[in-house]
Amino acid sequence: MFGPKTRLFKIFGFEVKLDASWFFLALLISWSLAQGYFPALYEGLPKQTYWSMGVIGAIGIFFSIIFHELSHSLVARQYGLTIKGITLFIFGGVAEMENEPPNAKAEFMMAIAGPIASFVLSAGFYGLFLVAESANAMAPLLGVLRYLAMVNMMLAVFNLVPAFPMDGGRMLRAALWHKTGDLSRATRTASRAGSLFGILLMILGVISIASGNFIGGLWWILIGLFVQSAASAHYIQIQVRQVLEGETVSRFMTRDPVTIDGELPIRKLVDEYVYAHHHKMFPVLDGGLLIGSVSTRAIKATPREQWDQISVRQIMDPLDQKNAIDIDADAMKALELMRRTGNSRLMVINEGQLVGLIALKDLMELFALKMELEKDD
Ligand SMILES: [Zn+2]
Repeated sequence: MFGPKTRLFKIFGFEVKLDASWFFLALLISWSLAQGYFPALYEGLPKQTYWSMGVIGAIGIFFSIIFHELSHSLVARQYGLTIKGITLFIFGGVAEMENEPPNAKAEFMMAIAGPIASFVLSAGFYGLFLVAESANAMAPLLGVLRYLAMVNMMLAVFNLVPAFPMDGGRMLRAALWHKTGDLSRATRTASRAGSLFGILLMILGVISIASGNFIGGLWWILIGLFVQSAASAHYIQIQVRQVLEGETVSRFMTRDPVTIDGELPIRKLVDEYVYAHHHKMFPVLDGGLLIGSVSTRAIKATPREQWDQISVRQIMDPLDQKNAIDIDADAMKALELMRRTGNSRLMVINEGQLVGLIALKDLMELFALKMELEKDD
């Protein structure tokens, strides 16, 4: 979501990944637990003990979040949805859905699974705490168990706030979707609630800072910003999907694109094509047959002094699933391919023959136009 991701392990076939920003969260949790929370609750323990409790608390949160996201993912799989993996980042975790839920019921069940899992986990930790307490266990163990019971309870309750894209917001959207049959309208309402909630969190953060709680306040502001921007991003995503789904690639493509011969030296490609047409990508042909595409990215990666010796064929990306799409494919599929590969242009193929190019810019322009024409409030 923010930076490079580290793959950790696979669980039930879902890949668990760690965003670099998670380390900041882990550090902040350990630090605030070791410096504030545990010393206030259990006085007179050695400093190192507080730090171990803090670190174990952070690790506990790590597994609690995975447990929460895993429950979403398992229910999603029940409904035939593909989950790419679970990523932990600074504001918690996210199960990466490849597509939207097929119906309101699926969405509702998927959404509610997370808070239920957190409630169950909270009860489990609290049960362990009670058992440990009656067995006169040591203070550090009691402290960590009690903390994890509380944190999972908070995770469940916070996620139940009806603000999209949080779980409660998804449940609200599912309920509205079920009632009206209009996913777009349901998303709009739930996203508005999400935006409002985000703004509310930011206001609370400012009040908190004004009353002297700087770290806590800053935290609320950051979470508020995150919820607010996630709500609007999701809303736009749904709109894009509605506009593009059901439209074929052929509607958006530019026909008869400029093509390059594979034997052309890079220098000539730059002088005669790149500077003349200002395109970022050209299809490459060999005797009339499409063999790949060459991008300005690949040209840049080649040392200038070799531009006369190296031919386009040597630096091109061969024709494959990453730079080409079928003319009858859904436009939404083209957009997803662009997002996944980072290629903002794709070659359009019909029975092995190059018939055109499709660009992200064209998809977005049509989307903006449609939004303008269909605006209803
Ligand atoms: Zn959740």
